[in-house]
Amino acid sequence: METLSIIIPIYNEEHNIPALYARLKNVVSSLELTYEFVFVNDGSKDNSITLIKQLASIDPAVKYIDFSRNFGHQIAVTAGLDGCTGDKIVIIDADLQDPPELIGDMYAKMQEGYEVVYAKRRSRKGESFLKKYTAQVFYRTLASITSISIPVDTGDFRMIDRKIVDVLKNMPEQHKFLRGQISWIGFNQTFVEYDRDERLAGVTGYTYKKMIRFALDGITSFSDLPIRFATISGFVVSFIAFIIMLYALYSRFILQDYVPGWTSLILSVMFIGGIQLIAIGIIGEYISRISSNVRKRPLYIVREKTTTSKKD
Ligand code: UDP
Ligand code: MG
Repeated sequence: METLSIIIPIYNEEHNIPALYARLKNVVSSLELTYEFVFVNDGSKDNSITLIKQLASIDPAVKYIDFSRNFGHQIAVTAGLDGCTGDKIVIIDADLQDPPELIGDMYAKMQEGYEVVYAKRRSRKGESFLKKYTAQVFYRTLASITSISIPVDTGDFRMIDRKIVDVLKNMPEQHKFLRGQISWIGFNQTFVEYDRDERLAGVTGYTYKKMIRFALDGITSFSDLPIRFATISGFVVSFIAFIIMLYALYSRFILQDYVPGWTSLILSVMFIGGIQLIAIGIIGEYISRISSNVRKRPLYIVREKTTTSKKD
């Protein structure tokens, strides 16, 4: 019988864990599978880890990895992927925005020969207009500037085959953008649609700062267009400058009509200055990622975890 691993990143989810566990348990026990739950506690400041340990003490299917501090959602999922033993793996949020009941449909699709079944949001409830709008713009921009097709309106909620996990483990980047990496890996991918619910309890762990960083990780990992923007804008600005130069010569020598032009001077200085700063900023985004990949620090630090004994 195949084993299903369910990876659950946890950041301050004490009010969601009991309901999540109950619903997951209900779903997986109806499938013809053995299963394990891998909770990754990403430095929660509440009682989440106590609850997880309680579950682990009564249910041998519950495993956990407890981080020394908050390392971020993508890293928590990465640790879960490193530590799981399943043949099929599900990544799911702890706040029940991703309905566990969809796992059955995903598994059915996997049986048809797919290696990745991701969940595509038909609608999303209970999130601010700004969050929904920025997400919409981000996924569409990303899709248009990357060479691989990263599905729009899709988070990390998905079922993947062990083959994918083995490849992911060998992808060394420090800045993870898992949904992009999984698209990049390929194999047969399909999706199931769902309506995204509100968070059951608690508040989002994704602050705007984390969201911006995540978006930049996605873009810089999968597109070189921003850095090419420096070159492109260089050409455009030079071309405009050339036209202005022709005009300046024309008005100086042919029209004999010239006024000391402070306005045009200051405008062009500001404009070129702006373009240069943008270009330097973009280069900086790439360089900072290169430097952290060169440093090769461990991605996460584990305080404690359940000892994985692989019983087959
Ligand atoms: N999460 C995490 N580390 C973080 C932020 C979030 O492990 O630094 C977890 C969180 O507990 C949840 C999942 O990642 O299980 C998705 O986070 P959240 O619901 O806060 O994001 P949103 O749904 O608002 O995008
Ligand atoms: Mg959420």
